[in-house]
Amino acid sequence: MSEKERIELAEILFPNIKHDRAYYENMYPERNLPEGAMVTRYGPSPTGSVHLGNLFSAFCDMVYARQSQGKFFLRIEDTDQKRAIEGGIDNITGVLKGFDITPNEGYSYGGEYGPYLQSDRTEIYQTYVKDLIVQGLAYPCFMKEEEIATIREEQEINKIKIGIYGVYAVDRDLSLEEVKEKLNNKEDYVIRLKSPGNAKKEIEITDCVKGKLKFPEHDMDTVLLKKDGTPTYHFAHVIDDHLMHTTHVIRGDEWVSSLPLHIQLFEIMQFKRPEYVHIAPITIKDSETGTIRKISKRKDLWAGVKYYQEAGIPIDALHLYLATITNTNFEEWYLNNKDKDIKDFEFSFAKMAIGGTSFDEAKLNNICKTYFSRKSGREVYNETLDYTKTNDPDYYKLLEENKEDMIKFLSIEKDGERPRKDIAKYSDVKEEFSYAIDSLFEEENYSKNDSDKTYDINLIIDYVNNYLDLNVSNEEWFNKIKEFATNNGYASTPKKYKKDPDNFKGHVGDICEAIRVMITGRTKSPDLFSIMKILGKERIIKRINLYQNTIS
Ligand code: GLU
Repeated sequence: MSEKERIELAEILFPNIKHDRAYYENMYPERNLPEGAMVTRYGPSPTGSVHLGNLFSAFCDMVYARQSQGKFFLRIEDTDQKRAIEGGIDNITGVLKGFDITPNEGYSYGGEYGPYLQSDRTEIYQTYVKDLIVQGLAYPCFMKEEEIATIREEQEINKIKIGIYGVYAVDRDLSLEEVKEKLNNKEDYVIRLKSPGNAKKEIEITDCVKGKLKFPEHDMDTVLLKKDGTPTYHFAHVIDDHLMHTTHVIRGDEWVSSLPLHIQLFEIMQFKRPEYVHIAPITIKDSETGTIRKISKRKDLWAGVKYYQEAGIPIDALHLYLATITNTNFEEWYLNNKDKDIKDFEFSFAKMAIGGTSFDEAKLNNICKTYFSRKSGREVYNETLDYTKTNDPDYYKLLEENKEDMIKFLSIEKDGERPRKDIAKYSDVKEEFSYAIDSLFEEENYSKNDSDKTYDINLIIDYVNNYLDLNVSNEEWFNKIKEFATNNGYASTPKKYKKDPDNFKGHVGDICEAIRVMITGRTKSPDLFSIMKILGKERIIKRINLYQNTIS
């Protein structure tokens, strides 16, 4: 076709497209950002509910843009209307809000580079396609589905590359008259790229995570616009990331194989190409088959993001965990830097795991426990209160009624080098501190007691009634109880007892254990004397009586 004919064809195909490329190029000028600022985007499709892998990807977009004083935007990629689910878009925006992953601009956030919903951008895509047609780089293709299927079969039998290219691209060189005739016959068509590539040539590209990658040049006449005039992912990606001035495309590595096409599109459009950052999916060792697989919302409870909200994993702790997936050196940095938070860490593409990261529940737990250990008792109280308001209203009431006590309990062993590490999620507070609230303790009634020893109840009653002084220092208290132990036939240290077990009934630790079991219902708890001080003598005695009545 001559250029004149191509111009005529473009008008016939897109009579309603009145603007040209320059119009949009002017409308979306370069961003005014500091040198080195990254512009990233999260481009979810509303085809399912958000899972941990999606959140990870959005988290990467956020941290890299934030640390480089760039921008992170949300673009909803709803070009595949057939797979869209009801409420899909609300789910995306709701999850981002719920997990404090806040784009600087984008769908539902506003901004100068919108619209950020691909279905609102059809006119833009068509403008650029119209231009490609004029340039002879795209053409309408009227091939029927059966025709394409037959070609595919033939290619499969002959073991050659599947697709529409070379001799298989039968509509590539139709004359204007032939196209007009097909249009008159109301034949459906798509717009295909007229690929200038040669698969015998090699291209090289450097991915920020995967390093140098080599591919044969793209030579397929890939579909750019579908029958309904909406773009394919590939075409929308190139147009949008160009006009929105994305500097770094951070996306799942399932797109690596499309890179040759994307690179070709950027070239023929004469757009500056963004950097690519392909991230591997989060994986898990399947408990049944033992093989490594992608996480699955169906099989893995924790893969859906609701899990984190319901279990009460703090958003900031989840961010810490996502940071450990983002950079392999993050966890160590965090554990070694008590006073720092995530914003102080410098993320780098070089520290991203090329092969992906397995979900590691123990690591998540550990990072959550560290997170809680660095919070004051009051902070833990307030956050837990917030969580229980919707997730455990009965406990919420109890927390409110026992506020001062609870804060005191939650503050035990918080100062010092090694703060207490027992809580990994808000829902653990009720479990771990059930002895802190009288009614819960009474209900539990020693069901959590993990000791099968019998204790000398009378001895403990005697101790509490006649020797226990709660108004002394921890050290004085311990010296006194050692004295009490010695006076009653117990060794003052475990060491002394071990040397000569026949001579003692036990050692001071056994007396402390007896008290601990009687007043907390378990053999392990935070500092015993601190617990006794908060409870006060009266409640201690009440609990010992309860123990006596329960045991006998
Ligand atoms: N809409 C694409 C997806 O959900 C996004 C890929 C990309 O970030 O480019 O897989």
